[in-house]
Amino acid sequence: MSNTLRTVQRILNKKSLDIVGYFNPDGSDNVYSKVRTILLIGPKEPYFWDLFKKSREYKDDKENPLDRWSKKTIEEIAIKLNARSFFPFAAPFQPFIDWAKKCSTMGSSPVRLLVHKEKGLFISFRGALGLNEYIESPNNSKDICTPCEKPCLTACPVNALNQDGYDVTRCKEFLNKPGGQECRNGCLVRRSCPYGQNLRLRDQSNFHMRAFLSD
Ligand code: SF4
Ligand code: SF4
Repeated sequence: MSNTLRTVQRILNKKSLDIVGYFNPDGSDNVYSKVRTILLIGPKEPYFWDLFKKSREYKDDKENPLDRWSKKTIEEIAIKLNARSFFPFAAPFQPFIDWAKKCSTMGSSPVRLLVHKEKGLFISFRGALGLNEYIESPNNSKDICTPCEKPCLTACPVNALNQDGYDVTRCKEFLNKPGGQECRNGCLVRRSCPYGQNLRLRDQSNFHMRAFLSD
């Protein structure tokens, strides 16, 4: 890991955030040309949730607390680093999924979701930092799923998420039934992945599921 990445990670640690991957953008990425390296930032679980729950945004009872906290926190870090900040939930919207696939740490899973080599199917992004420094990204050698028995393909009790993709309506219908309680504690497909399956707290999964169901 380069010295710059170590420095950034030290700053992120204070907010329970992680560099989950990085890549060198080209013309197709439509970002300011001085940006030579983009770091994707995700929660450092399981510590992240306790830190976020103490924040003003979590307690103020207004909309989108996690997005507001993420924007404030990552913008502050970007200023410290003389970097640019990007967010998956705020304009100008950036193609975070495409960006993730350019990182050596992430790839596509058999259920068509992103999978991360340590965080598995629970990979998520709170934002990204664009650095002017060029930090060469490692070659893409993603064989995360090749040696796996692929429990993700059959873990959904109602077949809403499999090799054919994600049937959101079917998933939501099940989540709203009494039998969906275990899924409300965390998607069984995501939890079936051997990578990162114990990192996300039940309380955090409940929070995301409530937001998903209220959409
Ligand atoms: S939350 Fe449950 S129903 Fe929805 S995709 Fe995941 S396992 Fe299937
Ligand atoms: S369960 Fe196995 S095949 Fe499925 S995403 Fe995780 S590592 Fe890949």
